[in-house]
Amino acid sequence: MLSTPNSPLPSNKGKSSTGVKPWSQLPPEIIRLIATYYILDVSNSAYYPSTWELREHWPHRIVYSIFRDAFALEKLMTMCPSWGSALEWHHFWSHACCAIDPLDTLAQHTVTQHNNNTSSPQRVSPYHQFRLITQCSCYVCRINNPGSNVGLALAKRAVAVPLMGTILTCREHRKNTYCGLCLRETPPRCDLFTPEVAAVGCIENEDLETWPAVAATCRSCRSEWLWRRMNVAAPDRGTVSGGSSYWSSLDWEVRQSIDAFVEAGEGTLGEILQVAREKHWLNRYTRVRMHMEHALAQQRLDMHSNGYVYENADEDTTAGEIDPDDYETLAMAEELHSVRDMAQSDWARTRILDGLWLSPADDWYGYRPRHTPSAEHPVPWALSTSDAQVHPVPATLRVPPAPTYHLADQLYRVFERQLRKILLPAMQNIIKRIMFQGRAEAMKTVATMELEDVLRALQQAWAWSKDLRRPPVHENDPDPGTPLDDAYSSSKSEASHTTSPVLSTATLQTTPSPPPSEDKREKDGDAESPSEEVPRMNLFTELGPPEPSNLLRDIPYVPTSLQEMPSFSLKAFIEVWRESYAPLFACSCKICERAMLHRDVGDTVRPNDTNYVVPSHPASYPQ
Ligand SMILES: [Zn+2]
Ligand SMILES: [Zn+2]
Ligand SMILES: [Zn+2]
Ligand SMILES: [Zn+2]
Repeated sequence: MLSTPNSPLPSNKGKSSTGVKPWSQLPPEIIRLIATYYILDVSNSAYYPSTWELREHWPHRIVYSIFRDAFALEKLMTMCPSWGSALEWHHFWSHACCAIDPLDTLAQHTVTQHNNNTSSPQRVSPYHQFRLITQCSCYVCRINNPGSNVGLALAKRAVAVPLMGTILTCREHRKNTYCGLCLRETPPRCDLFTPEVAAVGCIENEDLETWPAVAATCRSCRSEWLWRRMNVAAPDRGTVSGGSSYWSSLDWEVRQSIDAFVEAGEGTLGEILQVAREKHWLNRYTRVRMHMEHALAQQRLDMHSNGYVYENADEDTTAGEIDPDDYETLAMAEELHSVRDMAQSDWARTRILDGLWLSPADDWYGYRPRHTPSAEHPVPWALSTSDAQVHPVPATLRVPPAPTYHLADQLYRVFERQLRKILLPAMQNIIKRIMFQGRAEAMKTVATMELEDVLRALQQAWAWSKDLRRPPVHENDPDPGTPLDDAYSSSKSEASHTTSPVLSTATLQTTPSPPPSEDKREKDGDAESPSEEVPRMNLFTELGPPEPSNLLRDIPYVPTSLQEMPSFSLKAFIEVWRESYAPLFACSCKICERAMLHRDVGDTVRPNDTNYVVPSHPASYPQ
């Protein structure tokens, strides 16, 4: 080894090469100075509940912050013994003793120490004095009664609280008599419920999700945590539009749940957020406000005609105005006029009509395809305004998924109902047209049809006729089930292709002839693959454009492809298709006919129940 014994190693604890003492051996004054800055830093950045922010609460706040900062300083003292002994004499501790025991009630126990033979009694360190006081006193008493000696030397039990660690409480301060967060106590309660008790609002904690080990919370803490939680995530900030100052702009249900939570401790923060997010989404993307206004107008009218006098109505407000805080009436109006359902149905309908046939369930699970297929209108000339926009329009595509599972589930159901409402008449038209060739052939055709074929048929104008009429073709086997309208030919100048024998049995038995219509070819000619093996009825030719008066009311933009359609959306589509062809495959035995009869009756009651398939006859659609 080349190192001389006199050259100290840099890591040597005793002395460094520069002659500076290591931090463990700093003089006690310096250690205390460092600690002073440390405490300053801690007390500036540390949190204290807004309960103690009130001006009249500053003595309480001092005691509270001493308990809090003592914890931090003690941590510093455990660094090493030299720091521990130096910091025992930090002025913070004597100051803390002053604040916690302002009347020096316990001073006589702590000042002197039995010293065997020395003449003068020695003081224990202020830190020891502080520990002696806090190890036998009620924290809650001390924080709530600064300037007195209440609760000193009365500690009975130890309790763990979220913000302070373990604290001691006295016999009187059972868990539900003070707020577990800020330690504010309920004012001593006689038999009467005083305004003071109401103001503190210390109530049993229901929200064990947010505060698992807290028995009770006060009004101030509940409100503070609520607004803080609302401000964490950007979407939620928008949800409450900036906090309590925008109270009146909030939806009534959000206000009600916040009220119930803050005032009465009912519900949980999570539930409020759920309600707030749902309402925010509905307000933003549906016309729920408009529907609510209509409902309220109706409600006012009803109340007026029933001779109901609104007790809170002022003279200067409009007669019969409903108080924005009258949650009961508002809830009744929303419920009675099914505002929410109407707004959601409206939204789903608009979405489908715009060509976005994507189920909200797929949106919720994040299955939205990367490229949403564009959509085209099957009857463009029937549009009142022809826009050059690509459908679905960006506004439809931009709608984010529902914020909660609950809302996503509701939207999913509403969407399926609306999709059925819009597509079923058109799909029934397709079946009707297939039926022109007779039942046996029709069953074969349907069995070989692919979903893309159904979609392609929906892209044709004829599918959207109110009353699909049979073209005047000469067939050997006319189907008695389809109406033959006499007025049909008179009103319309026949397009050349309507007379083409597209529906004749000859077409069915051979490879389908190319659609004769030229405009048809232009539109989606390339979609039809030329090498078709399955003989199938040619559904993709025009029947001659339906008259404007013979068009269905709701004609959506039809997506150009189902290829990337995710599972829930596809399922919704298939279900409508299944429903439309189910009668074709229905068994005609007595049992089944009776079942069908029941189904038809039930149909009006439960419009979204599309399960027609008799259990003994499984669905025969080939997938
Ligand atoms: Zn002091
Ligand atoms: Zn106490
Ligand atoms: Zn509190
Ligand atoms: Zn049967």
